[in-house]
Amino acid sequence: MSGTTYPVLKTAKARTLIDNDKYLKWYKESSDNPEKFWAKHGTRIDWFKPFTKVKNTSFTGKVSIKWFEDGITNVAYNCIDRHLVSRGDQVAIIWEGDNPYDDKKITYRELYDQVCRLSNVLKSNGVKKGDRVTIYMPMIPEAAYAMLACARIGAIHSIVFGGFSPDALAGRIIDCQSTFVITADEGLRGGKTVPLKHNTDLAIEIASRAGVEVDKVLVVRRTGGKTEWFDTRDIWYHEATKAAKPDCPPAKMKAEDPLFILYTSGSTGKPKGVLHTTGGYLVYASMTHQYVFDYQDGDIYWCTADVGWVTGHSYIVYGPLANGATTLMFEGVPNYPDAGRFWDVVDKHKVNIFYTAPTAIRALMGAGDQFVKRASRASLRTMGSVGEPINPEAWEWYYNVVGDKRCPIVDTWWQTETGGVMITPLPGATDLKPGSATRPFFGVKPQLVDSEGKVLDGATDGNLCITDSWPGQARTVYGDHERFIQTYFSTYKGKYFTGDGCRRDEDGYYWITGRVDDVINVSGHRMGTAEVESALVSHDAVSEAAVVGYPHDLKGQGIYCYVTLMNGHDGSEQLRKDLVAHVRKEIGPIASPDKIQFAPGLPKTRSGKIMRRILRKIAEDDFGSLGDTSTLADPTVVEDLIENRQNRK
Ligand code: ATP
Ligand code: MG
Repeated sequence: MSGTTYPVLKTAKARTLIDNDKYLKWYKESSDNPEKFWAKHGTRIDWFKPFTKVKNTSFTGKVSIKWFEDGITNVAYNCIDRHLVSRGDQVAIIWEGDNPYDDKKITYRELYDQVCRLSNVLKSNGVKKGDRVTIYMPMIPEAAYAMLACARIGAIHSIVFGGFSPDALAGRIIDCQSTFVITADEGLRGGKTVPLKHNTDLAIEIASRAGVEVDKVLVVRRTGGKTEWFDTRDIWYHEATKAAKPDCPPAKMKAEDPLFILYTSGSTGKPKGVLHTTGGYLVYASMTHQYVFDYQDGDIYWCTADVGWVTGHSYIVYGPLANGATTLMFEGVPNYPDAGRFWDVVDKHKVNIFYTAPTAIRALMGAGDQFVKRASRASLRTMGSVGEPINPEAWEWYYNVVGDKRCPIVDTWWQTETGGVMITPLPGATDLKPGSATRPFFGVKPQLVDSEGKVLDGATDGNLCITDSWPGQARTVYGDHERFIQTYFSTYKGKYFTGDGCRRDEDGYYWITGRVDDVINVSGHRMGTAEVESALVSHDAVSEAAVVGYPHDLKGQGIYCYVTLMNGHDGSEQLRKDLVAHVRKEIGPIASPDKIQFAPGLPKTRSGKIMRRILRKIAEDDFGSLGDTSTLADPTVVEDLIENRQNRK
């Protein structure tokens, strides 16, 4: 992997909250005495009744995780009410519509009004503390209001990404037995409408056949498109909220009362309904938001994720609003009206902190620099990446072209289950290495182990575990604590197993090498997928690559590469040879690709992650049962790959 190091930028050092000395000091405090460290930082949120107990966690036996357990608070109060005195007229949410001419600004005072009204609507329709409310919405402010209204009255929200099918929505409604749904008539993405209400109607029928009856559907009018209407069940959002009272007291919530259920992306199998609770989650989301992005008062902050993913929960809504930030919410997609949209929006709203995913960075890199350069991007200060390993090539492009070499990149490694960022650089503290998530956040204790569970020290490759709890950690899989124990705590006794492979270098930096299940074993050499993929992406003609193993008579496993080319390149025999030579040069002959399939697109989850398990099946010539494909973004991509596979028997 690329060996370049980028020292902390002077500009970042000059205004940053945490420099390297402070990082080392705080990290030591957090690992030597977690109780004391988190007792101090637990007060960054307001408590109606302060906690006296800090940490009560066990990774063995029945696995029980409790933080600040006797404290009483409310997440919506912390995200709204407590800011009213000092920043009632400050903008809380900047909304940028799918159409570049459509935008709006919502102050903290307006947010209070909207959330209280909606809370009253939920209450008057029978939603009570502990009830599950499904939110199936486009990226409009009402999605944030819905989350906060649930939090305000103590209902548990379960957000289902607006791009999911009726089946996927039904599955999630059934899994958590949700009887109340909030949706919109239609969503709007990239100029196309998405029939959300229609999908909801279909999902409700499916759920009903499985014995789960949805009684009420609250519908936001987004496009005004035609929808079916069931008078006894459907309620117009605008009518109900207009009629509701504009004040609603926040429910007194125990720190360990559930806040939300969220299903994982489904990259590796059937999505898990991860449960997060109130106090520890908010402490962790707000603290990571502040220090990871070096968020400071007055900054305009933009995370391009969808609220349907955990990134949207922690870093569009809860973390930023708990910190009194101005958070930008974007309804559209990166390439509409064209591939310059992100950078146009950065200029338009003077965005200081920008957070996106490698899938978007690779796609925009493929589209060409002219789209970036037509915007000034002068306001940008910190840029982040999340979701997959970022290939050094894409990192360099992000850093040099988008950030003009003046913005530190925070490559944040974390998971739905971790609630917040776990391994990451801090802008003013960490020298950067492209492709490395670098060092653990405060209170996070990573450990690398081999397949037998032996702890590995120093510079090494291994399976990434976390040895002690942190406040943002998921508490269970909803309704299935046994699956929680099985999935995360049974592989290596007494440790949280992340499922990811990882390398630690001589500086103690962590490099995520891909999912442990995806590790390829070529003639006894274990190789992470990320490394081979990054070598391919570093070739000028390649925009994206996915690598999997397949059975090989001599080597045990062979290396099968799916490659997407940059605009203007064709997949010729010559290029195939060039790519093989290129990988041999970058990594060595052991990583020499056995098969290369040029593909117009790769199968991805709806959150934009490459689904290697499907690619593995195709490479193995076993595409009869592809496993759970409910989170697959575009099924036609898979058909094309099967049609053109290189491994026909
Ligand atoms: P499922 O658990 O259903 O298979 P998923 O793991 O993709 O889906 P998420 O919780 O959305 O669901 O993703 C977490 C995973 O994403 C991590 O375990 C890791 O593999 C990958 N990931 C996230 N951020 C990074 C990063 N900065 N670098 C490398 N990998 C990352
Ligand atoms: Mg996962």
